[in-house]
Amino acid sequence: MTAPAPAISFEFFPPQNMAATFRLWDAVQTLSPLDPRFVSVTYGAGGTTRDLTLEAVGALHASSGLKVAAHLTCVSATKAETLALADQFAAAGVSDIVALRGDPPKGSGGFTPHPEGFSGSVELIGALAAKGTFNIRVGAYPDPHPEAAYEGADVDHLKAKFDAGADEALTQFFFEPETFLRFRDACAAKGIDKPIVPGILPIENWKGVKSFAQRCGAPIPQWLDDAFATAERDGRADLLAVALCTEMCTKLREEGVDTLHFYTLNRPELTRDVCHALGVTPKVALQEVA
Ligand code: FAD
Repeated sequence: MTAPAPAISFEFFPPQNMAATFRLWDAVQTLSPLDPRFVSVTYGAGGTTRDLTLEAVGALHASSGLKVAAHLTCVSATKAETLALADQFAAAGVSDIVALRGDPPKGSGGFTPHPEGFSGSVELIGALAAKGTFNIRVGAYPDPHPEAAYEGADVDHLKAKFDAGADEALTQFFFEPETFLRFRDACAAKGIDKPIVPGILPIENWKGVKSFAQRCGAPIPQWLDDAFATAERDGRADLLAVALCTEMCTKLREEGVDTLHFYTLNRPELTRDVCHALGVTPKVALQEVA
């Protein structure tokens, strides 16, 4: 018997100029008929897109008919400023937040809390949860986060986030299903029973993904590097990306994963093709987007 199609969600980033705005709306129009649980909008590293994120979140909420989640980080801001922004999201009709410590500004050498800011994600989550009105999602790391102090630190830290009031975790992307499944098992062994949704990245640009993974310290399987080298030489990298991503999602589905979160990078085609291959087909009429 065919398994029911998975529930899905999509991550976008806020556009910085007119051309990027058109690309975002194109991505939203392409993917919204797949009926995502929610779409999320990122918050620039170093807190750089505060206004753009607010604007994109408000516009998506008002025009797309989709549930929207706003990413919020505590980098370079006081507690009052961070919570005021959360209140502005709420005022725009958005009560789903992806609460993160955040990446520091480029070249700053590491995260240092603002003197009057949150010490990290757990304190931010606690403050948002205390308001009692937000649905709070958080980040999780199946491959160790570069700042993990010991093996299993990311599991302990995720537990602290759930204990502080998080409702669901979305993971960083990973290259092999076993990476997620091992992490899920380790979380269960620590008593975590809240949903942990794998973050899925259809690989559109292998060079870029590889360099990001290297910066994060995520291990890159040699077979994957070889496969993309061959596919790029033959002009078939997109086909490989869809095939590999579909295969990974299928293995996750076979292991009981029923919800997937896609990193779209505002490029909808590969994500749409993977979703179709997984049996996620258009469900709603296209919304008119401004
Ligand atoms: P945390 O999980 O709080 O910390 C990361 C790891 O560091 C922990 O797992 C733990 O191993 C260690 N650690 C940190 N603090 C402690 C502590 N007090 N005690 C013990 N261990 C600790 N970045 C952005 O700037 N904008 C975004 O919009 C954005 N969206 C993201 C969405 C998702 C789904 C994910 C997974 C990541 C996203 N990021 C984003 C990246 C994220 O901000 C970085 O990975 C950042 O370095 C960590 O943020 P976090 O809240 O996940 O950190």
